[in-house]
Amino acid sequence: MTVSENNAKIIVVSAPSGCGKGTILHEVFKNTDAFYSVSCTTREPRDEDKDGETYHFMDRAGFEKIIAEDGFLEYAEYADNYYGTPRAQTEQNLAAGRDVILEIETKGAFQVKEKVPEAVLIFILPPSVKELDRRLHKRGTEKEDVIAKRIAEAVGEIEKSYKYDYVIMNDALEDAVADFETVLKAVKLGDSSADRFRADSEYSKKMIKEVLDNA
Ligand code: 5GP
Repeated sequence: MTVSENNAKIIVVSAPSGCGKGTILHEVFKNTDAFYSVSCTTREPRDEDKDGETYHFMDRAGFEKIIAEDGFLEYAEYADNYYGTPRAQTEQNLAAGRDVILEIETKGAFQVKEKVPEAVLIFILPPSVKELDRRLHKRGTEKEDVIAKRIAEAVGEIEKSYKYDYVIMNDALEDAVADFETVLKAVKLGDSSADRFRADSEYSKKMIKEVLDNA
């Protein structure tokens, strides 16, 4: 993939389910003209999904055709379904000088970083694994065995968060949104104002450890 000559960036956002990633991004998008990349997936639409808005829904044959045409910037299998980022819309927006935000899981995030090292990876942490478990139970949309599987997946993803560029804790929504915007601004300006959120800072390393220890 060609790197854009302007300052437009790919911003990758990952978080285990139940971390409030959707809510944070909803707030962030009120103040940015970045492009939200709509992914393709083979999973069944949920009630709240709108084809073409939340995802482009398709069958496996359709998805595999796009893979064969090299039409994805990245793709991965997650919970028995394919998910992928269409390449063309990302490239067109970057070429037009617009930042592109990808909301994807960790395997896809690392593929993007390998292809586009300038991409910025942000991981959203829950306050603790225990709190994540509480939130998933409160949401009540999943059965006990599915919750257990999602918690196990979440722990695996949190363990990889130190390889991201930035980590943000979603304890209080307002703070998480402000922190996210601080990171976006620092990325655009190329300054050090968000360095405390860097995944390799002592502060972040301690935070990641505490989230995992509090399981
Ligand atoms: P859900 O089925 O709950 O909508 O999404 C499941 C997971 O797939 C989430 O972690 C979400 O961020 C991730 N995901 C969504 N779109 C993509 C994509 O295009 N590529 C990858 N690798 N993951 C995605």
